[in-house]
Amino acid sequence: MAGFVNLILLLACQIFVTEGKVIVVSIDGLRPDAITAHGPEKLPNFYRLRAEGAFTDNARTDFDYSETLPNHASMITGRPVLGGCGHGLNVNFGGANTKLHGKGYIASMFDVAHDHGLSTSLYATKGKFSAFSANYDAGQGAPDLTGLDHGRDKLDFYYNGASDVIMIPIIEEDFPRHRWDFSMIHLRTLDSVGHTRDWDLDLESDYMNAVVTIDGYLGKIFDLIELSPDFAGETNLIVTTDHGGTKGTYTHTVPEIPTNYTIPFYVWGPGVKAGADLYELNPDFKDPGTSRPLHDALNQPIRNGMVGNLALDLLRLPAIPGSCLNAAQGLRVSDSPVFDDLHPGLDPTGDANGNGYSNFFDYALGANPEAPHDFKLMPQMTRGRIKIFRRLNAPDVGMGLEMSLNGKSPWYPLIEGFTYRITALEETTLGRQLDVKIPFVSEKAFIRQTFIKKEAL
Ligand SMILES: [Zn+2]
Repeated sequence: MAGFVNLILLLACQIFVTEGKVIVVSIDGLRPDAITAHGPEKLPNFYRLRAEGAFTDNARTDFDYSETLPNHASMITGRPVLGGCGHGLNVNFGGANTKLHGKGYIASMFDVAHDHGLSTSLYATKGKFSAFSANYDAGQGAPDLTGLDHGRDKLDFYYNGASDVIMIPIIEEDFPRHRWDFSMIHLRTLDSVGHTRDWDLDLESDYMNAVVTIDGYLGKIFDLIELSPDFAGETNLIVTTDHGGTKGTYTHTVPEIPTNYTIPFYVWGPGVKAGADLYELNPDFKDPGTSRPLHDALNQPIRNGMVGNLALDLLRLPAIPGSCLNAAQGLRVSDSPVFDDLHPGLDPTGDANGNGYSNFFDYALGANPEAPHDFKLMPQMTRGRIKIFRRLNAPDVGMGLEMSLNGKSPWYPLIEGFTYRITALEETTLGRQLDVKIPFVSEKAFIRQTFIKKEAL
C-alpha cells in the first residue's frame, strides 16, 4: 500500500517537473517613457527585455483605479476592481485584516499554481501586501480540489521587506535554494521616489536615477535565472507595474490622467518572440493610443491585470477560476498558429467532421474541424441580434456578416458600425463571443456569418 502511494506522488511530481517557471516583477510606479528617455546605455536590462522579449509601452492599469493595492489585486486575481467580475478591493490601504472574499471566494493566480502542485512565493516591499498572504493562507485559502490535495495555503512563502535594497540580496539567496516555480516580486523604490521627489523625467532627476537603480535589480534577477540550473533556459519573466505617475502631482491617484494609466508590459523567456510588439502579436487586443478603454470595450488593451492568466498560460496551467482579464488566455507572446499550422494538409474547403461547414469555417469559429462538431459555437439568432463566435488572434481569418431577404440570393454584406453594432463580448477558452445587434432589419431577413481565409503575414 505504501509503495502504491509513493508511486502516485512520484508521477504527480514528474508531471510538473518540466513545465518551466515564471517570475512576475511589478515595479511600483514605473512609467514606460522613463525607460525610453534613458535609452539602452543607461538601462541595459530593460533594453534586454525589449530586444529579447515581447513588450508594449502602452499597456493599461485598471480603468477605475491607478493605485497600488487595487491594481496588484487585479494582477493576482485576473479581475478588474469594480463591476460584476470585480475583486472589489478598491482601497489603497490595508493588510492582514483586509477581506477579499466578502462576497464569495476570489481565487488567485497562486491558487491555480499551488493546487497543481507548483511552489509559490510573493516578495513585496509594502506592508499592505500582507492582504494577499492573509487572504490566501491556510485559514482563508480555498480547499484544493485539483488532483492531489496540497492544502489551503496558496502561498508557500511570503516575504515583506522594508526596501528593495534589503530584499534583493534575500531574493538572490532564496531563489536558487527554494527553486520557486511561480513567484511575484514587488519593488517599491520608484514609487517612493516619485512621491517624495516627483515623477520627473528630467534625465538627472531622482526618479530617473532610481530607474537606473531598478535596472540594476533587473540585472540581478536575470543573473539569478541564468546562473541557476533550475531556472536557466526554462524561466519566463513578466515585468509590469501597478501604475505610472504624474509630474507636478507627486502622485498617481487620478485614474483619468494618461501618465498614471499608461504602463509598460514585458514578457521574456522561452517561447517569447524576440523584439516583438505585443499588439502586433495579438490582433484581437488593440493598442488604445492615448485613450482609456472601459473594461467592456470590444477590443481590450493589454492590462497589468492580465499578468496572472498569462503567467499560468506560460506554466501550461488553466486560467484563474472566475477571472475575466485574459480569461481565455488568448494573450500571445509569439505568433499565433494559423489554420495551416494547426491542420497541415487539411483542405480548408473540405468538411472533415461532416457537420456541413467547411474546415476553415469550423476553425474560424474557434473549433477543431477534425473533432466532433460543437454546436455551442454556431451563431445563435434571436430577434434583432446574433451571438457569434470567432477564434481569438487568428491573423488568417477575415470575418463578415451578410444579409439576404429570402435566404438564397443575393446576399448583401453588413457593415460594422452602420448596419450592425457589436455590443458586448465574452471570452472562452475557444475564442471570443460577440453580441451583434442589427437594428434596422425588416420583418423577415436571413443573416449569415462569413469567413475568408487571408494570407497570414
Ligand atoms: Zn504610490
